[in-house]
Amino acid sequence: MLSDEELNRYARHLVLREVGGVGQAKIRRARVLVVGAGGLGNPVALYLAAAGIGKLGLVDDDAISLSNLQRQILFKTADIGRLKVEAGAEALKALNPGVEIEAHAVRLTAANVMDLLAGYDIVADGSDNFATRFLLNDACFFAKRTLVSAAVTEFEGQLATYKSHEPGCPCYRCLFPEPPPPGTVANCSETGVLGAAAGVMGSLQGLEVLKEAAGLGTGLAGKILTYKALSTDFRIARLPKDPGCALCGTAPTITDLSRHG
Ligand SMILES: [Zn+2]
Repeated sequence: MLSDEELNRYARHLVLREVGGVGQAKIRRARVLVVGAGGLGNPVALYLAAAGIGKLGLVDDDAISLSNLQRQILFKTADIGRLKVEAGAEALKALNPGVEIEAHAVRLTAANVMDLLAGYDIVADGSDNFATRFLLNDACFFAKRTLVSAAVTEFEGQLATYKSHEPGCPCYRCLFPEPPPPGTVANCSETGVLGAAAGVMGSLQGLEVLKEAAGLGTGLAGKILTYKALSTDFRIARLPKDPGCALCGTAPTITDLSRHG
C-alpha cells in the first residue's frame, strides 16, 4: 500500500493507466545499481530517485572536479573534491527521502562485482571505460541481471538493454566480442562531450530502467538505439544474438570472470 505522502508525490504516475498503483508498487520494489556517477549516471539516478525506485546503489570511486559540472547535474560547485557517491547520495536523499540510497565508493572489479550485483535486480551501466563495460556484461550474464547500458561521446550516444540470460537475447559481446586494444579508443576527457547530449542519453537510460522495473511497454532488449545530437537523429537497429558468442552463445568459452584479472 502506498502512503498518503506517496499518493501525492507520485500522483502524475498514478493517473497513468499503464503505471497506476500496481506499477508504482513495482517501481518501489525495484533495486537498481548505477555504475558510474558521471554524465550518464547522474540523470539516471536523479530520475530513478524522483520516480520512487526502492533502492538505488551508486558505484564510483572518483571525486568531483570542476570540469565534471558541465554535465554532472547531481553536483554543485561547493561539492568539488567530495566523493561523487557521497555528494550524490546526499542530493538524491534530499530529492526523495523515501528512496534507500547505497553509496559504493569502490572501483568495480572482478573481485567485488558479484557481491554488488547480489543486492540489485537491474543494472545501469554509465561507466566510461571498456574494462568496466565488459566486466559488467559478463557479470550480469552470470548473475542473470538485466543490464541497461548507455554510452556517449562528443555528440553521439548509444543505448541498449541486455537480457542475455533470457533465450534469444544478445549480450554486449554479441556486438563487440572483445574490448578494443588499450589506447586505441579515446575517452571523454580527450574527445570532449556535449553536456546535454549526456543528459539525453542518461534520461533515456533511466526511462528504460523504469520500464524494466514497472513492466511498461516494449524494452530495448535485442535492439540498439543510436543518437546523433548534431542532426537530432534517433535510430533503432536490431541487435541479434550471436550463436558463436564466447559468453552467451551455444559453445561458450567464457565461463567465469577470471579474464578480468
Ligand atoms: Zn553474447
